[in-house]
Amino acid sequence: MIINVHAGHNPAGKVACGAVGIINESTENRRVKDEVISQLRELGHTVYDCTCDNGTGQTDILKKIVEKCNAHKADLDVSIHFNSGAKDPSGNDRSTGVEAFVYSAASEAKEYAEKICQAIASIGFRDRGVKVSTTLYVLRHTVAPAVLVECCFVDDKDDVELYNYRDMAAAIVHGITGQSVQEPDETESAVPGEETPSGDKAALSRVQVGAYSIRANAEAMRDKLLADGYDAIIVQA
Ligand SMILES: [Zn+2]
Repeated sequence: MIINVHAGHNPAGKVACGAVGIINESTENRRVKDEVISQLRELGHTVYDCTCDNGTGQTDILKKIVEKCNAHKADLDVSIHFNSGAKDPSGNDRSTGVEAFVYSAASEAKEYAEKICQAIASIGFRDRGVKVSTTLYVLRHTVAPAVLVECCFVDDKDDVELYNYRDMAAAIVHGITGQSVQEPDETESAVPGEETPSGDKAALSRVQVGAYSIRANAEAMRDKLLADGYDAIIVQA
């Protein structure tokens, strides 16, 4: 596929930057955007980065993004944003979640939008669904089918705790292409059985420190244990 990808708004700290909550939209959408681009390229797709980092204001940024998008004949334009307005700074154990916008219900982008939402929901975010908007500048003015993804909420503690840019990017890439890049899997050489020293496996007593439904959380705990000098591995059961 040929795909245009951009992060919305100016970079953090400049005029017309994105939403700020527990995390900063303009920082995180650029992390996600860079990772989406690199994963799509690894999968063999042609990708153009249409992000604007030097807009003089919101209108200028939008115009520059659209100019870059329309300079290429693409199969899809992907606009990466983070949402705000959840007003849940201390967490209520519920994700506010992902939503995506397309220009019309008949847009070819709608199916991509649905798959992107489903993929992001599969890592734990609530699926707020695909919405139609004829007022969003980027959707209105881009030539290729376009989807605007609001990955999750910057002001929802539950979303922020669940979020990491790599998994978010992988979900977006999977939503667009149905493909995933091969994860560099540190645990591959440490599958149960291989990690055990020679001897009777049944005689080993294992100490477990946590069980996580989100892989990233398991990785974070493993990294913490490794950093503390423990010989930790992740076992998928
Ligand atoms: Zn935004």
